Amino acid sequence: MEQAILPLVLYGAGKNAVKELELVKGQGKMPVGFCDADTKKHGSTCFGLPVMSVEQAREQFGEFFVHVTPGTPGSAIRRAIYDSLLEQGITKERIYNLQERKYKACRLLEKNLLIDQRRMSCCCHSNAAMNAPPEISLKENNWDLDASLSQWFQLRESLIASIRAGHPCACSGCSAIESEASWWPEKGALELISFALPYPCQLSCNYCDVKELSHNLDSTERQFMRNFNWKRFIVLLEKHGLAHPAFTSILFAGGEFTIVSNRKELLDAVAQYNTHIMTNMLTFDRHIAEALARPGCSLAVSIDAGTPKTYRKIKGADMFNEAWGNIKKYMSCGVKVGIKYIFMSENSNKTDIKGFMQKLLQVRECLADFVISVDMRDPGPRSEDEIGMIAMMRGIAEENGISAILSECFTPIEARRVLEYHNGLQKAEKGCAV
Ligand code: SF4
Ligand code: SF4
Repeated sequence: MEQAILPLVLYGAGKNAVKELELVKGQGKMPVGFCDADTKKHGSTCFGLPVMSVEQAREQFGEFFVHVTPGTPGSAIRRAIYDSLLEQGITKERIYNLQERKYKACRLLEKNLLIDQRRMSCCCHSNAAMNAPPEISLKENNWDLDASLSQWFQLRESLIASIRAGHPCACSGCSAIESEASWWPEKGALELISFALPYPCQLSCNYCDVKELSHNLDSTERQFMRNFNWKRFIVLLEKHGLAHPAFTSILFAGGEFTIVSNRKELLDAVAQYNTHIMTNMLTFDRHIAEALARPGCSLAVSIDAGTPKTYRKIKGADMFNEAWGNIKKYMSCGVKVGIKYIFMSENSNKTDIKGFMQKLLQVRECLADFVISVDMRDPGPRSEDEIGMIAMMRGIAEENGISAILSECFTPIEARRVLEYHNGLQKAEKGCAV
């Protein structure tokens, strides 16, 4: 039987309640109530939510996820509550913030699933410092989603165990593995499920690797994309406890989603989830605007130019002004938009940086985020000039109250060089006007 989407209940209507409530709300999750061991609280409300016993919650909601509020990760009180919940029949998989002990882990491995027309994987090779991503081939499973997902789940579990135990595995030596000093929840739904199917796109960015993929699809891959049953796949993930609207975001990446013919159907399949779409911004689609005009959802676009000429050079089309026009149109419908600038030789100059920043400042009120990145085709090291240009863009953003995120494509050394350069610039120039 298909499992219904499970509600989230906070355990502990005490002094940590407001902090933890804000924490989960900030992650786009809306709890349906509190459970508490104190019977005197049952029947009352806490921050507008009903307080009840675990048994009453079970009667009301059937199965549900629990987020424990008292104590801190690893504290005796939190561990005692975990024990008590387990005794009351709440399984480990249902305790969202279950944290048993510190261990070595890769966040991507534990919290991400990436699916394209060929594979299911935990990470992609977007960061040059990572190993080749461990993956399950869909083709070898004859594109059977159930079998592939079960295998992926087993692979993930075995990699988590190997990293923890320090045993050799496909992830050994990867820089994404964090030290034992980190705390990690053992179970819980994924944070991000990325669908990276290579749909056709109207642009030809000079750094694009999707276009070639979309041209080279074989007939079975095309059929897989055409017949992909999104609704069923989401339900399958929910049955494995891997997806939950309170914890999981959906990302449509790959090719150009806004011109996919069944985009409405796809969006409807994930309507309860925070949804993010990567787009080239050449098309304004009213249904997408309506579907994403809610908290926790966004569009993302990489503009990469400050002038129409540079835009054409990098993207192969004369659509600079149209892209900015559509950004404003989506924003006027209440959609947050994330904007990226990928540095490469064509746009690492003052004219483009200033042109881009002028446009960015006009839309800062509705920005989801602003990301500065580098061209993945160029393994570096970056020249001093390029680092200086990146620092300059970052400086202008910060001076105007926009926080600029350096993408994972920067190595830690490069990111440090940008920050050091930026600090030097600040001292030397006391500001860069747009
Ligand atoms: S450790 Fe590296 S290779 Fe393994 S899943 Fe994480 S990012 Fe991928
Ligand atoms: S917008 Fe994206 S999919 Fe389209 S050509 Fe550029 S990189 Fe490729």
